[in-house]
Amino acid sequence: APVDFSSFMSEILEPYKDLIKSEDKKLVTAIDVNKPVLVDAKRVHQLIVILLDNAIKYTPKGATITVNSNIENRNLKIQICDTGIGISDKNKKSVFKRFYREEKSGNKQTGGNGLGLSIAEWIVRAHKGKIKVTDNPGGGTIFTVLLPVAK
Ligand code: ATP
Repeated sequence: APVDFSSFMSEILEPYKDLIKSEDKKLVTAIDVNKPVLVDAKRVHQLIVILLDNAIKYTPKGATITVNSNIENRNLKIQICDTGIGISDKNKKSVFKRFYREEKSGNKQTGGNGLGLSIAEWIVRAHKGKIKVTDNPGGGTIFTVLLPVAK
């Protein structure tokens, strides 16, 4: 069934607000999707949770996590940006591989199996969409997801 994306996102983000605040981080959201979108709600929920968990995990105190979403060229665009430790160009492709974890100091203190992003990529593929990772100007990482939505 079509999803009202604004309330869908609010429901996902709500439980994160306390956690983010307790870690002295900031959440900024700009959801500009005014019509229902046809996506697999359970999987897209999981996808956003994976990206959000990482954005929180791989950022220091004081970081800002920004969630943007809008419709662009018949794609639902979701962007999760952070001001954290970043991902080197060398490792940008590898992060989507199963069991890959960056050999960065600090990375061993944060738990994880290196599975999240491979699942995220699989969910995006199931929607015939795209996921890419770029640098956040000024430091940190941006994950951009494009999911085709019918007109
Ligand atoms: P989990 O299986 O719990 O998701 P994980 O976070 O290690 O563990 P992935 O989500 O697949 O696994 O991420 C793979 C690696 O990519 C991470 O270990 C980390 O090195 C890097 N990474 C992912 N997201 C970010 C981010 N927002 N900023 C910096 N590095 C990141």
